[in-house]
Amino acid sequence: FKEVNDSLGHLLGDELLVQVAGRLRSTLHPDEELARLGGDEFALVIPAATLEQAEQAAVRLLDALTEPFHVEGLALHVDASVGVAVSPRHATDTTGLLRCADIAMYRAKYLRGRSAVYDAADDDPARQRLQTVEELRTALARDQLVLHYQPQASLPDGQISAVEALVRWCHPETGLRYPDTFLPLVEEAGLMAALTDRVLELALDQILTWQADGLPVLPVAINLSASSTVDTALPDRIAGALAVRDLPGNVLVLEITEQFLMADRARAHAVLTQLRQLGITISIDDFGTGYSSLAYLRDLPVDELKLDRAFIAPLADDARAANLVRSTVDLAHALGLRMVAEGVEDQTTWNELARYGCDHIQGYHLARPMPGPALTHWFQQRQPGGPHIPTQHPSRTPSSAGRTN
Ligand code: C2E
Ligand code: CA
Ligand code: CA
Repeated sequence: FKEVNDSLGHLLGDELLVQVAGRLRSTLHPDEELARLGGDEFALVIPAATLEQAEQAAVRLLDALTEPFHVEGLALHVDASVGVAVSPRHATDTTGLLRCADIAMYRAKYLRGRSAVYDAADDDPARQRLQTVEELRTALARDQLVLHYQPQASLPDGQISAVEALVRWCHPETGLRYPDTFLPLVEEAGLMAALTDRVLELALDQILTWQADGLPVLPVAINLSASSTVDTALPDRIAGALAVRDLPGNVLVLEITEQFLMADRARAHAVLTQLRQLGITISIDDFGTGYSSLAYLRDLPVDELKLDRAFIAPLADDARAANLVRSTVDLAHALGLRMVAEGVEDQTTWNELARYGCDHIQGYHLARPMPGPALTHWFQQRQPGGPHIPTQHPSRTPSSAGRTN
């Protein structure tokens, strides 16, 4: 629902809610009661229901949502998760029942099932989740987010051309946590805009530090979640963050996903145009994994495609995979776009990509993501006097060690 609201606006979001409520209502038996609890959450009360009856009701509700909804000529598919709780088995008062149903609903979401019955064993994870959301708020307020930076090199010369900023959470108890363990919760808790702003500030401050350390200016790439890119105030906030540091827009690359582009083309076009006018580079991340259409690649103001590492990994030993990458590089160039290959883990892959005319590479074979000061050191160590690396011997880490994802 959030996606619909963000991309189509609240009016159409409301219209969709009204239609959904109508469908749900059409399934009701005479003594049942349906209420909207808020947002996109509804509650169905069935007097004196057995567990079996309640579970059947869940199926009824879900079935009612199968057919797409039509809002302003768009066919929208809606999915729902249902949590089931019955009295007196799970709780006997309203508050208790609602709470159990809520916990069961998260279980349904978590299991990617459509409905789930309350299970006391979930009480802990539910409490845990709430606690983590609280900790995330603290993390944002108390500077527990840090960025690691992973360099990119241009081909064929191997010069360091940019770095990607990747967020980590220095959790006071559990230590360094990687984005896949907390970003989904950040999104769910509505904290993504705050996280993006924080990441932006940290990255721009780091650019100033590197400048002071005597490093050449390396553009920093920042990841934007689909929800932060539909945020129409974003270009202004970014412009402000650049201006207070007296930095030009071309120090920033924004990595967006195809998801964002597909959500609302007109809006995406407007936001991207504004960002590009600031001199910012726009890159399409994880390219090839979404629902790309050639039309949007032709029409949207983007500069760069970042081919997903799922395509890069098999390149060295699979001729068909190699051909796919090669022709994608050609496609990018035919559209006037740069191609970046991510997840380059060995020299063979590096060499092949250079042969195909790929413009930039990123991956463990060049370097793993590292803290800002470590990058300064890394850069100075391997490149006395300038940003040149011999193409045939990009240094560092075998891909077998450490963390992969
Ligand atoms: P991504 O944008 O595709 O980032 C690249 C991920 O691949 C990083 O994982 C990086 O450590 C990893 N990687 C780099 N080179 C290699 C390689 O050669 N082999 C393999 N197997 N992996 C490699 P990380 O840092 O865990 O980030 C995961 C995802 O989290 C990112 O995927 C991005 O979608 C998201 N993310 C990270 N930072 C941010 C952020 O500040 N904001 C938002 N919205 N998302 C972020
Ligand atoms: Ca990225
Ligand atoms: Ca990626």
